[in-house]
Amino acid sequence: NGVPRLSLNDGHTIPQLGFGVYQLPDAEAPRIVGAALDAGYRSIDTAAIYGNEAGVGRALRETAIPRDAVFVTTKLWNDRQGYESTLTAFDESLERLGLESVDLYLIHWPCPQKDLYIDTWRALARLKQEGRARSVGVSNFTAAHLERAIGETGVTPAVNQIELHPHFQQRALREVHARLGIVTESWSPLGQAKALNDPVLTGIAERHGRSPAQIVLRWHVENGLVAIPKSATPSRIAENLSVFDFSLSAEDRAAIDALDRQDGRIGPDPASFS
Ligand code: NAD
Repeated sequence: NGVPRLSLNDGHTIPQLGFGVYQLPDAEAPRIVGAALDAGYRSIDTAAIYGNEAGVGRALRETAIPRDAVFVTTKLWNDRQGYESTLTAFDESLERLGLESVDLYLIHWPCPQKDLYIDTWRALARLKQEGRARSVGVSNFTAAHLERAIGETGVTPAVNQIELHPHFQQRALREVHARLGIVTESWSPLGQAKALNDPVLTGIAERHGRSPAQIVLRWHVENGLVAIPKSATPSRIAENLSVFDFSLSAEDRAAIDALDRQDGRIGPDPASFS
């Protein structure tokens, strides 16, 4: 399907573009995830809190695409942090998905006020050892959370999934990831479509005969990021995957790099969210 894969620090690989299913109702998931698989996506990003693991699992059973050809990510919700409760919550996610293993299991938020993310990370390390989570990682961790998790357990997350889009580019954290061997995965890669009408993006889009969303996703790919755009519209689902037959110029990339903002964050701040 032309989607490149990135190597993870544990020897596995992850497709550079996946399909995010936040806010997709469980009842809609079989149809929409099925459409994404038909369009060529081979990576699905869900989470326990999204309430659609069962629908995602049904889509995976109903497709002719073999289980091993699809990279499935799910995440542990905040109220289940802690060693034993994480193991139980993981079992429940597998049960809802109807799978024997996932490709990637993530701690959804660090919740530093709870101070349970180290015990939680130890549980993920065990799930990886058991092979039920082929890779394990984190989401919304800051550099300090990463350093502490690695320092106390000796296990480095394969991935840190963080808010990242042209208005919030996370350059400092990306450098930390590069130093530690962690793949950066961009959530809300389109900035929830809030900035797609920026004249810089529409201008580049016009020159390439592409949509602004395609320009932004191509920017993620050329920066070595994994992106998981979400759409429930079949034409956009296909559009968002078709970014592997053109490239940005150095000038295009520089113009998008210049859109970064101090106040560009859309979602919660990991330092306080629980
Ligand atoms: P996104 O940046 O992917 O934007 C999605 C929205 O953009 C859609 O609802 C649609 O309105 C619009 N859109 C999509 N394709 C478009 C196109 N081609 N043209 C114009 N508009 C288009 O934002 P998101 O859904 O918040 O994030 C994507 C995924 O990231 C989620 O589904 C979820 O899997 C993941 N996520 C993870 C976390 C986390 O804490 N780990 C948080 C938020 C989201």
